[in-house]
Amino acid sequence: MIYTGSCSCKKVSVQAILEKEITLLKPRLCDCQYCQSLEQPSALISDKELITIIDTPKNNLVMKTNGSGQATFYHCKKCDQLIAVGALIDGELRGAVNSCLFTNTLQFKPPEFIQPYRLTAEEKIQRWSLIWGKLEIKNNT
Ligand SMILES: [Zn+2]
Ligand SMILES: [Zn+2]
Repeated sequence: MIYTGSCSCKKVSVQAILEKEITLLKPRLCDCQYCQSLEQPSALISDKELITIIDTPKNNLVMKTNGSGQATFYHCKKCDQLIAVGALIDGELRGAVNSCLFTNTLQFKPPEFIQPYRLTAEEKIQRWSLIWGKLEIKNNT
């Protein structure tokens, strides 16, 4: 199935491709200072089978890194909402997408809180490689 979502200002749209119901995925809310300081709601979903395509001219995206610098956070340049988070793992861009981009049409389970910053750099990469799907950025300028 293909699910389409967008940020609150609609500048950035995303497609999420998953065989099973995407609302079966449990949103995760990182309780670090950075994620909690975001003005727009975010709660990440991911699955090894999930393919996320960010469909926007690249200059509509702002890329930020968090404390450890391992992951890249993609935000809409206009409304600053978090779109997705990703990292290069074994040369492939993998990531998780913000479930709040789909909440116009879909209802997800209440998010669970996670503390990824408690993990070491190596543990993070290992965890991501197990739970993150494929992330693609379609640069349709
Ligand atoms: Zn936006
Ligand atoms: Zn965080």
